Amino acid sequence: MQFDLKTNEKGNLSIGGADAVELTEKYDTPLYVIDEMKIRDNYNRLYNAFSSQYEDFKIFYACKANTNLAVMRILEQEGSCIDAVSPGEVYTSLLAGFEPERILYTGNNVTDEELKFAVSSGVTINLDSISALKRLSKLTDPEKVRISFRVNPMVGAGHHEHCITGGELSKFGVMEKEAADVYSLAQDLGFTPVGIHTHIGSGILDPEPFMLAVETLMDITGKVHEEAGVKFEFIDFGGGLGIPYEPHENKLDIDHFSKEIVGLFKNKLNEYNLGKPTMYLEPGRYIVGNASTLLTKVNTIKQSYRKFAGVDAGFNTLLRPSMYGSYHHIVVANKPEAEATQNIDIAGNVCESGDLFARDRPLPEVEEGDILAILNAGAYGFSMSSQYNSRPKTAEVLVTDGESEVIRERETFADVLTKQNVPVRLLK
Ligand SMILES: *Cc1c(COP(=O)(O)O)cnc(C)c1O
Repeated sequence: MQFDLKTNEKGNLSIGGADAVELTEKYDTPLYVIDEMKIRDNYNRLYNAFSSQYEDFKIFYACKANTNLAVMRILEQEGSCIDAVSPGEVYTSLLAGFEPERILYTGNNVTDEELKFAVSSGVTINLDSISALKRLSKLTDPEKVRISFRVNPMVGAGHHEHCITGGELSKFGVMEKEAADVYSLAQDLGFTPVGIHTHIGSGILDPEPFMLAVETLMDITGKVHEEAGVKFEFIDFGGGLGIPYEPHENKLDIDHFSKEIVGLFKNKLNEYNLGKPTMYLEPGRYIVGNASTLLTKVNTIKQSYRKFAGVDAGFNTLLRPSMYGSYHHIVVANKPEAEATQNIDIAGNVCESGDLFARDRPLPEVEEGDILAILNAGAYGFSMSSQYNSRPKTAEVLVTDGESEVIRERETFADVLTKQNVPVRLLK
């Protein structure tokens, strides 16, 4: 079966050895179910592929993909570092046990308060603009902070326009052509920059755009080294490694991918005499994407102008289909092997017509009470969820060896209202 789906003796979908239908009976729906072993496997597959080619290699898990503390603990145990994009993520990472040396803070459009927080946390600060560099120099002793710059090479890639973070339309980073000057300016201000970074996009399944970004960043790095005399401790190629969402898509061939990238990296290190800096990658999706399944119950079958199966989750629970038009494979968890007999729309419960998980999806007969498993919901699933329509956020459970534990409780109506205040004059 596609996506390594497993069916148990009861004929139900099995996730990490646990029965998906029983999980919904125990914890209710909608429910995010995270398979611990998949996270560990994904991390180790990637780590081994690269570190076997180049020893000085580190993974900085881009935690915005899923910031659950249990997920972060799993990655801390595996030896991962963290890419944090906000002070809240820095705070979460520290709480999860990552030492500041293992955290890279890549903010964008950062405020002075955010820079101060990053400085006081002791994390490495990856700067996104000359403005942030100048402001940082006024806020702290430049000799005491480790900085790098995010460079925007003229290369972008991604599964959706919103996910392309390199190229001339992108808001991120400093321009390729100004990179050497920016490093010189940093040195003039008293900093000793230690790294260089780029992140060109997300959902990349084809090595080509990534290779082009590596080549471009290496050329930029070489130029900065030659012109500004910077000695690089690390070169960070960002994240963006994709996973297959559609059944016809292939997995990234990680052994081939790592060989190509490391080969190019080593050639460029030699070409520019860059020594032996540590290579960083910042995968988010690749680490957690296929590790979670969103379970949701069908409550309404409706034959309108089209045929709909209405479920108890919506884009407040999983935004990707509505926001990016993303495909998520869906199986009926109580009969995962049944053949498709119809094309049907799977609609959420939010009051917006864009709230659809799938249009015209080939599925077996679906009845009210069936449990749908929306696959590959681990990256940017829970972390992008909201309380829109005053719906409490859903629960997350972690499964391993057939055992399940709640790692985030389901919110209540009271949780949705917490922090609101009604002025006394309005209570009369
Ligand atoms: C989001 C992000 C990543 C991770 O992207 P994925 O597509 O999930 O791998 C890495 N680095 C930075 C700076 C990011 O903003």
